[in-house]
Amino acid sequence: MAYRCKSCSAGFESKDELFDHFENEHAPYKYGSLAREAGDIVEQRALEYGPPETNLNHVAELWSAYLGIELTGWDYAAMMMMAKIARGYDGAVDEDTAKDIAGYADAGWATVVDRNRNS
Ligand SMILES: [Zn+2]
Repeated sequence: MAYRCKSCSAGFESKDELFDHFENEHAPYKYGSLAREAGDIVEQRALEYGPPETNLNHVAELWSAYLGIELTGWDYAAMMMMAKIARGYDGAVDEDTAKDIAGYADAGWATVVDRNRNS
């Protein structure tokens, strides 16, 4: 057997067979599915309301003026991720919270890419 499952030691002839076995037997969660769904939501909102980086940068400008310190769109996204993370302090973490965090990471990263492109 060319490929061995590291979880149960079962052997397989091909990598594809090993992957199928692992997904069916050991991985009830499809890795990347939450991040992809969060990305789809960010993309859908961008189509409805315009690029999220514009909104994130606008919020960052308002918060910068209010606080008297310079914040970026990424700073705003990072603080929103922390606000979502704080929801889980009582031990109750749900899928929507994880999806929100992934969405803010995605939209926040868009502000960084946008800033780097324009500098
Ligand atoms: Zn296995």
